Amino acid sequence: MDTILVVNAGSSSVKFEIFSVEGEGRLSRQIRGQMDGIGSRPRLRASGAKCEPVADRAYLLEAVPDVPAAMDLAGEWLRDELRIRPIAVGHRVVHGGPDYDQPMLIDRSVVARLERFSNLAPLHQPHNLSPIRSILASDPTLPQVACFDTAFHRTHGALADHYAIPHQLHAEGVRRYGFHGLSYEYIASTLPSVAPDIAKRRVIVAHLGSGASMCAIDQGRSVESTMGFTALDGLPMGTRPGQLDPGVVLYLIAEKGMSAAEAQSLLYHECGLKGLSGISNDMRELQDSTDPRAAFAVDYFAYRIALNTGMLVAAMQGVDGFVFTAGIGENSAKIRAAIASRLAWLGVSLDEAANAENRSLISQPDGRVPVYVVPTDEELMIARHTLSLLVRAT
Ligand code: AMP
Repeated sequence: MDTILVVNAGSSSVKFEIFSVEGEGRLSRQIRGQMDGIGSRPRLRASGAKCEPVADRAYLLEAVPDVPAAMDLAGEWLRDELRIRPIAVGHRVVHGGPDYDQPMLIDRSVVARLERFSNLAPLHQPHNLSPIRSILASDPTLPQVACFDTAFHRTHGALADHYAIPHQLHAEGVRRYGFHGLSYEYIASTLPSVAPDIAKRRVIVAHLGSGASMCAIDQGRSVESTMGFTALDGLPMGTRPGQLDPGVVLYLIAEKGMSAAEAQSLLYHECGLKGLSGISNDMRELQDSTDPRAAFAVDYFAYRIALNTGMLVAAMQGVDGFVFTAGIGENSAKIRAAIASRLAWLGVSLDEAANAENRSLISQPDGRVPVYVVPTDEELMIARHTLSLLVRAT
């Protein structure tokens, strides 16, 4: 059985999935695994095609000091115990820079180019690249494919791509890239089957998870995003503030005496729902809490999503459909209802029962803007890209 390995490496965890390649290039998920606690309390957990547990084991800290070691251990487990030898590996790479508008088959020159974008995404890019390098060293003939979170947004026009800053900075790469592209691409590819009426029209997709952003998609192409140069911009998130006056950052540095690293740590880890509520970055906890600060954080989240919807409607000069996806978007009827009630002016009106049951179509039949819940699958998107590049290369 031919299989494809999908890898999503972060600073302290490596997520991996195995897809089998079946008739006519159909992909079927066989294993979903994660090595987390890298550098602290390493643990490998994995489940099979029917979500049944297939591994749960702890390792000594010295055995898994870093991401390459975690990748090696996961690779050994797949090879030696499950007898899985993938025909290719697809990687999630957060930044493809200004040029890469589609996935790339990796060689050393591609890695060198992607390393140059590390300073544009310092918290993600180096970790994404480290398993690529270690596989290139240990198994140089195994095809590897880089799939970028920025690529789907490279269709943006110049107005959407620029900040009002001197051109030289834009030329250096200070642009509005947009992220969560693999999720949006998956949704765009799925809409023709789940929502054919809106698939070829103007759709706003709200990817609401620990990270959150929204994308304006016109005829299947991204035209605008709430995220910009980094994944800090746009909507409030679990621990990130979303849109912020850059003067706040200057204040932190000039008046509070913070170093750039301290300001970065505050903005990535202490803000958003966590900072506002003082309780948690987890939407489930906030929804269940009776603390007024939790209620305020939830309200703020819905308010900013409604504000940003107005912006994206303006970018497309209208909207024909709205899609919720990711952890909060797929599962929280309460948040969807709070957002929808702020969008009544736009013609959004939810069917309460359909919303409560997380059905696919959750709007009233006579609402002007149909609203859908569509589960995302970034890993399947990576596996599809990896297979199609492999087929093209042979
Ligand atoms: P993700 O990053 O897509 O995995 O999404 C994680 C976020 O989804 C966290 O804030 C979770 O609290 C939230 N989430 C997952 N399930 C639910 C649920 N049933 N109700 C509310 N929030 C949820």
